[in-house]
Amino acid sequence: MPRVDFLGTGNAFSPHGRMHALALIDGKILIDAPPTVITQLKRTGHSSGDIRHLLFTHWHGDHIFGFPFFLLERKYVTNRDSKVGLDVYLRPGGRKILHGLCETGFPGSLDSLDSMVDWNEEENGLIGDTGWRFIRFPVNHNPETDPHGYELIHSSGFSILHCGDSGPCSEIDRRAPDADVIIVEMGVPDIGDFPHHHRPSDVVKLSERNPHAKILVTHNYSSARGRQEGFQMPALPEKIYQLEDFDALQIFDDGSFQIINKKSKK
Ligand SMILES: [Zn+2]
Ligand SMILES: [Zn+2]
Repeated sequence: MPRVDFLGTGNAFSPHGRMHALALIDGKILIDAPPTVITQLKRTGHSSGDIRHLLFTHWHGDHIFGFPFFLLERKYVTNRDSKVGLDVYLRPGGRKILHGLCETGFPGSLDSLDSMVDWNEEENGLIGDTGWRFIRFPVNHNPETDPHGYELIHSSGFSILHCGDSGPCSEIDRRAPDADVIIVEMGVPDIGDFPHHHRPSDVVKLSERNPHAKILVTHNYSSARGRQEGFQMPALPEKIYQLEDFDALQIFDDGSFQIINKKSKK
């Protein structure tokens, strides 16, 4: 049964009780590679050597700076025999950025990057034999980062719209009606105009325009539930679920789904 694990749910500023936003699908597909991706995988019993597919949304540090660490661990620890291939899905131009990151981080150690990675610059297609396919689409975020989101459609018909790091935009609105679940990155509070980010009021409007869909909030600017420091979690309608680190979305064969909260598991 398909499952999405949220190994981090914070924005770039690492709010109290949250690591950077990171989604892991079925234990083998990663969305982005934040700085502490290795720690986040290990804390949840996963291994970099099990990851077969890595989809990048855009070129901001909180989404990509873990890439050299991820590759280094695979090369020297978890995938020494190179048995597990890695497909990286990215926009043209991304290869140069990732090559630069690896050369800066571990000069000389990752020269074999092109032999470790199969680069996929297609805008849509199958994600290997995982049963998932993707459609990449442009979103509204700092244009220098070439920002995109992903429609992720399972062979069962279940559809997840991952909005990437974005403010409200027509490309999200065009696709939202087809989504069962919408993952939205709520990077800033309601303290001004931020067209490149979703604020709580923007997430509420997104939910009102799409009452059929469950909205899952990640990349949250607020501290985790129950933390006294920093920004407090905003009160949002029940239809909108603000994820915590290590929450999971479990999808059942009949198309129903459940959000598993780490604190309510026991
Ligand atoms: Zn971000
Ligand atoms: Zn960003």
